[in-house]
This record gives sequence, structure tokens and C-alpha cells, in this order.
Amino acid sequence: MQFIDLKTQLKSIAEDVQKRIAAVIDHGQFIMGPETKELEQKLAAYTGVKHAISCASGTDAILLALMAYGVGPGDAVFTTPFTFIATAEVISLLGATPIFVDIDPHTYNIDPTKLESAIVHFNHQSLQPKGIIAVDLFGLPADYHLINDIAAKHHLFVIEDGAQSFGAEYHGKKACSLADIGCTSFFPAKPLGCFGDGGMCFTDDDTLAGVIKSLRVHGAGAHKYDNERIGINGRLDTLQAAILLSKFAIFPDEVEKRDKAARTYNDLLNSGRTDLSLPLFMNGYRSVWAQYSILAGNSEHRSRIQEALKAEGVPTAIYYPRPLHLQKAFSFLGHKPGDFPCSEECSNRIFSIPMHPYLEADDQKKIAAIINRI
Ligand SMILES: *Cc1c(COP(=O)(O)O)cnc(C)c1O
Repeated sequence: MQFIDLKTQLKSIAEDVQKRIAAVIDHGQFIMGPETKELEQKLAAYTGVKHAISCASGTDAILLALMAYGVGPGDAVFTTPFTFIATAEVISLLGATPIFVDIDPHTYNIDPTKLESAIVHFNHQSLQPKGIIAVDLFGLPADYHLINDIAAKHHLFVIEDGAQSFGAEYHGKKACSLADIGCTSFFPAKPLGCFGDGGMCFTDDDTLAGVIKSLRVHGAGAHKYDNERIGINGRLDTLQAAILLSKFAIFPDEVEKRDKAARTYNDLLNSGRTDLSLPLFMNGYRSVWAQYSILAGNSEHRSRIQEALKAEGVPTAIYYPRPLHLQKAFSFLGHKPGDFPCSEECSNRIFSIPMHPYLEADDQKKIAAIINRI
């Protein structure tokens, strides 16, 4: 059994993928070729956002967004410690300081109440609050009505880290359209993945879009060798765009299949026991189920479940075994265990089971039966 089955997906689109790859090799415009533009137009229309700007990875998408706001030394950016390192890494890479805010243990996303409190009680003399990066963990959007209101009140920007949530919805709007700038990743294991690295920024703001497009190509001005600002080489390969066009054709159907698989898991696992926390289906939210994650009673219980699954050939994963404030890379921030208790507790209890659009009903039954037995 696969944790994420990309082979079955490929079978259904193999011919189209081959055709599109051959077309790119034929026209030879490997950098920012016509497929890149076509993909940007299609994903802008899908998300309902004015500008979609492709880039080299999800990490670059967040980096470009922060650079577009001129984030640098002396700036503070609020985010969650219960996420992939990339979210906070780019803040530090620019010389700014990540300010962690604990999560809501039911959604695993930044807790808006704690966020507001962290902003109101901010007292780092040498730092200036600039913005917020909210993360849509496991494909479930954060609570942007509250987050955007808090940000507006305190004159902060909001970046949506939608690396895991492309295809999700929040009160009728698509993920990556929920903040000032939305960022996503096309890493192969993400809901919409390519055959390598890729990413995209989304924004309705013409000025920000112009700056991101320039930053993506070494800060270029009107002419290629006219450099207006310090930028990066952050472009998406035409070949990856071509592959994404193939995959995007079946993506809306895959989103439905993911939703169905998640509902099936919830039905099969919801036996009324209180030592397991299943993912929530909340009004106004539609997760894209990048992961289906469960909280076990404690870390020992989690190990027993994972071992039982492994013994029967079912792969599992832990996202994330250590919150960012306790990572060595962020030791310079001076955090200690206990600083963000919800993130720490989730790290100790969480595990994810196979989730992809091609899950077989029998496999889901088998997985649920093993978990229900432990
Ligand atoms: C995957 C991921 C990223 C980084 O995306 P890459 O394309 O791997 O650079 C950023 N944030 C989150 C939450 C992710 O899951």
C-alpha cells in the first residue's frame, strides 16, 4: 500500500503527459515558455485571483511574497511553529524574526485569539511587527476572516501558506485567494504536484504582482538586463508547467475523491472512542486533505497504532514530530519546551494515514479495522 499513490494517477493521464512533454521539447522554450503562461491563467481563473505568478517552489513562493513586502532585519513576522520548516525559514533567511503563535489543537492552524494576544502584547524593543504567515495545515484553510481582521487592525500584511491547501475552500472562496498573497507548492506529494519542484504566488494586488514578477527574475526591470532590485532565480520550468496542465485537468475530480476518502475514514473510525481525535468537517471549510491526520491518546498509543499498521503493510507518517520552536535551526530564538503547549502536544500524538484520490475502499476498511483494534 502506498502512502500517496502517484502511479495510479499517472496511468490515467500518461498519454497526455507524454504529449505535452514532447511539445515542450519540440518548441524548445524551456524557461517561461507558453505552458507557463497557460498554467498561470488557468490557476488564476480557478482560484478567482487576478494574478497567478509561477515560481520554482513553495518555499520560493513564500520567500518572494516576503521580499515583495520588503521584509528584512528588524522586522517581525507572526506564524505557527506547527508547520514545515519552510514557512519560518524564509523569514529568517531575509534577516527578519519569526514570532511563533500556538495552534488551535482542533484545526492545527494558528489560533486567532492567541495571534491577537501576541500582537497586542508584543514587546520586543528592537523589532517591528510587519505581517502574518498563516498556514493551511493538512489542506484545511486557517480562519482568514478573523486573521485578516486582526491584521487590518494592526496594519500587518497576511500571507497564506497554501502549500498544502491548493483546491481547498473557505466560505465559498478557494485556498490561495484568502489573504493578501497566497502561496502554494507543486512538490510531487502535494495535492497538485508536478515531477519536481514548483510553486505559485497569487494576489489581486497589481503592484505586488509586478514586484513578485520582477523578483522572480533577478529583480529585472522592463528589460532583462535592467535590474531594479535584488531578486532571485525563482522561475518554474516550462516542462513542470506542462505536466501540471495535464494533472490540473483531473484535479477537480481528485479533490472530490479526496473528500470522499476522508469522509469514509471518519465514518469507519468514528466508533465513539475518546482516545482518538479525528479531523473535523466544519461549516464553511472544505479541506483538500493533503494529509488525513489523527491524534492518538499519547505518544505510546501512537507508536502502538503505527506498529500495528506497519506490520500489515500500511505506511504512516508523522507531521510534524518536532515543532519549529524546538528545532536546532531556531535555537537562537531562545525557546524552551512548554512555550507552545498545543503544538508540542500535537507533535507527540499526531500521525497520518494513507490519503490520495485513488484509495481503495477495502484498504480504508483494513486500515480502520487495525486502528479500531488498538
Ligand atoms: C511543502 C511545504 C512548503 C514548501 O514547499 P516546497 O515546494 O517544498 O518548497 C511550505 N509550507 C508548507 C506548509 C509545506 O507543506
